[in-house]
Amino acid sequence: MLQWRWFVVFILLLVVGMNASAVSEGGDELPEYINCVNSTIQAQCNTNTNSTALSLPLYLRLTLWSCEDNCKYNCMHNISDTRSPPLLQFEGKWPFYRLWGIQEPASVIFSLGNLYMHYHYLRIILVTNNKNTSKTNQNYTVPTNYYLRPFIIGYCLVNINTWIQSSIFHTRDLPATEKLDYFSAAMTILYSVYFAILRIFHVENSFKQLYIGSILLIMYLAHVYFMSFISFNYVYNMIICGIFAVIQGAMWVLWYTVAYLKNNQSVLVYGHWVLYAIGANAMTVLLEVFDFPPIGRVLDAHSLWHFSTIFVAPLWYHFIIQDSINQSDWSVLPQTDNDYDNHNSENFDMVQ
Ligand SMILES: [Zn+2]
Repeated sequence: MLQWRWFVVFILLLVVGMNASAVSEGGDELPEYINCVNSTIQAQCNTNTNSTALSLPLYLRLTLWSCEDNCKYNCMHNISDTRSPPLLQFEGKWPFYRLWGIQEPASVIFSLGNLYMHYHYLRIILVTNNKNTSKTNQNYTVPTNYYLRPFIIGYCLVNINTWIQSSIFHTRDLPATEKLDYFSAAMTILYSVYFAILRIFHVENSFKQLYIGSILLIMYLAHVYFMSFISFNYVYNMIICGIFAVIQGAMWVLWYTVAYLKNNQSVLVYGHWVLYAIGANAMTVLLEVFDFPPIGRVLDAHSLWHFSTIFVAPLWYHFIIQDSINQSDWSVLPQTDNDYDNHNSENFDMVQ
C-alpha cells in the first residue's frame, strides 16, 4: 500500500532536513523579493486608489488568486529569472509556472492519474460480477459474497477522495485545501490499517468490525482535532502517519511471513503481490526524500512521486482481488442468474 513511504520519508527527512536547514535560504527572505512584493502590492492592490484587484483575469479569480497572491507569484518568477541557479524556494515552495491559475499543474495531472486508477478498480469491483462457480474460472473481480467486499469498495472511495483533495490542494495551496489534503491522506492510512486488521485477523463479525472501526475513527478525529484547533504541526503529522504506516506494512509482511513459514501454498501463489506493492511504494519515497528544484519550473520530485504511485495502485489491487477470490467459498455460489440474485442476499456471510 501507499503507507511505507510516510515512515521512510520521516526517517530520511530527519537526516536530509538537518543538513538542508543549515544551508537553505528562502527566496522570500531576499531583500529584492520583499521590495518587489511590497511595491507591487502598493501599486496594484490598493483598492482605495484603484480597482486593479478586480481586474485579475477570470481564471485567476476562479482559482481564488488574490491581488497579493498574484504579486507574490510574479515577483517570485521575476527574482528567479534574474538570479543564477540554483533555484530557491519561496515560503517553503518551489516556484512553479501556473497553468490557467493551477499552481502546480504536474502534481494535479498526476493526482488525477491516481484518482483514475482507483476509480478504474472501483468500476471493476462494482460492475464486473462473478457468476462462475469455480476459483479457476472466475472473472477478475472481488466476489460478491466476499465479506470484505464493502470494505474494499470503501478503500477505493477513501483513496478517490484523497486524490480529489490532492488535486484541489495542488491547484491552490490554501490553508483549507492543505488541511483537507493532509486529513484525507491520514484517513487513507488509518483506513488501510483497519482493512489490514479485518483481513489478517478474519474479522467477519459485524459488531467487531464496528467496534474496531469506532476505535480507529475516534483516533482519527482526535488527530484532526489536534491539527485543526491546537497545532497544525507537520512533524507531528509525519510521526503519526509514519507510525500507522509502519504498523500497516509490518502487518502484511508478518502475514506473508507466517504463510511462508507454514508453506501455505494457496496464499503463496499470489501473496507476494502485497510485498511488491509495499516494496514499490517504498521505492517511490526516494522521489519525495531527494527533493530537487522543478525541471522547467514544472516537474519536481513531489509531482514525480505522485506520478510513480499511479503504478503502485494496480499492484495492491491485484493482490486484493486475488486474495478475495482465494478467500471466497465458491461452492456456495449459484449456478444460474436467478439463483445468483437470490444468493447475494442470503449468503453474504458464507465465506471462509
Ligand atoms: Zn501532493
